[in-house]
Amino acid sequence: MSKILVLTEFNNSNLKRSSQELLQFAAKTGRPVVALALGTQAAAGAAQLGGHGAQEVMLDKDSAFDVYNPELFSAAVSEAIQKSGATLVLASATSSAKDLLPRTAAKVGAGLVSDGTEITVSGEDVKVKKPLYAGKCFATAVFENASVKIVLMRANQLPVAAADTSKTATVTELSFAKPSLKTLIKSVVKGASEKLDLTEANIIVSGGRGLKEAGNFKMLEDLASVLGATVGASRAVVDAGWVGHSMQVGQTGKTVAPTLYIAVGISGAIQHLAGMSGSKVIVAINNDPNAPIFQKATYGIVGDAFEIVPKLTEEFKKALHH
Ligand SMILES: Cc1cc2nc3c(=O)[nH]c(=O)nc-3n(C[C@H](O)[C@H](O)[C@H](O)COP(=O)(O)OP(=O)(O)OC[C@H]3O[C@@H](n4cnc5c(N)ncnc54)[C@H](O)[C@@H]3O)c2cc1C
Repeated sequence: MSKILVLTEFNNSNLKRSSQELLQFAAKTGRPVVALALGTQAAAGAAQLGGHGAQEVMLDKDSAFDVYNPELFSAAVSEAIQKSGATLVLASATSSAKDLLPRTAAKVGAGLVSDGTEITVSGEDVKVKKPLYAGKCFATAVFENASVKIVLMRANQLPVAAADTSKTATVTELSFAKPSLKTLIKSVVKGASEKLDLTEANIIVSGGRGLKEAGNFKMLEDLASVLGATVGASRAVVDAGWVGHSMQVGQTGKTVAPTLYIAVGISGAIQHLAGMSGSKVIVAINNDPNAPIFQKATYGIVGDAFEIVPKLTEEFKKALHH
């Protein structure tokens, strides 16, 4: 059976959950799995890849890979596809992957499906389910006449088990002639609320229209900083321009799976639930006892967010920072 190539991503040299999902999924298909690891963080973290199902790691530890550059990365991915002979390439549907993989597909003549929420692989056949028209309906995509198939999966759609640390992968250097770059990216500036991407966060504090105005998100940031959490939002407040789209949780935002999700002033519309119902513990704070969010919540607090959130922040401060 032909190989599956998985593009891996690291955060402080820790393999991202989204990459763990893809490697473990690929391993379950029974096909040989090659992980592509690029940059200094990947070099430091490459030893984790075997435990999640990679048999082989293609590594290029060049620090040029530490900042995303479309030309450089697409040259590397094309090279890895050719060297490995992989016929299926899996990547997480991040914004850089959505920029990179279509270029790569054009380069190697591959077929590509983006934004997958479900994937089935049987032998060489690959089927991908993906939302269309901002989540109003779903399409099932299959490949025809594609010798190489590229699939970008949304994060937190596939299960993740603990790594099997007894397993290791063989590491080979991906040596190739680097292209002369036409574009140089000098630096990347992250937004204040993007310290840890929502899809990777272990604790999320999300706010909705119940917060009344943009400035009141400060209250959630205070709670989040005490908990070491990332701040998220409902679409209503993103549409209102209170916070950026990168913070949106839901069908047309991010799918998250934290251990703890605190929803403040969020009603619990089906499209919001679609993005966060995989959370382990859900705490809802809402002044309407009939808000649908309470049906999904593990713990519900009926009351005014402006009274409850500062109290929670104070109590957590006492409990956690002694
Ligand atoms: C195709 C499509 C895709 C969508 N995708 C998404 C998506 O990805 N993510 C998403 O979130 N939505 C999405 N939506 C929108 C979704 O349907 C809802 O409109 C939205 O989630 C509502 O946001 P909200 O809960 O913040 O606001 P509301 O529904 O207005 O809820 C506000 C809540 O705050 C409570 N409240 C008010 N004052 C207080 C207070 N002082 N203290 C405590 N609670 C208070 C109210 O009781 C209410 O329950 C989508 C819709 C469509 C049609």
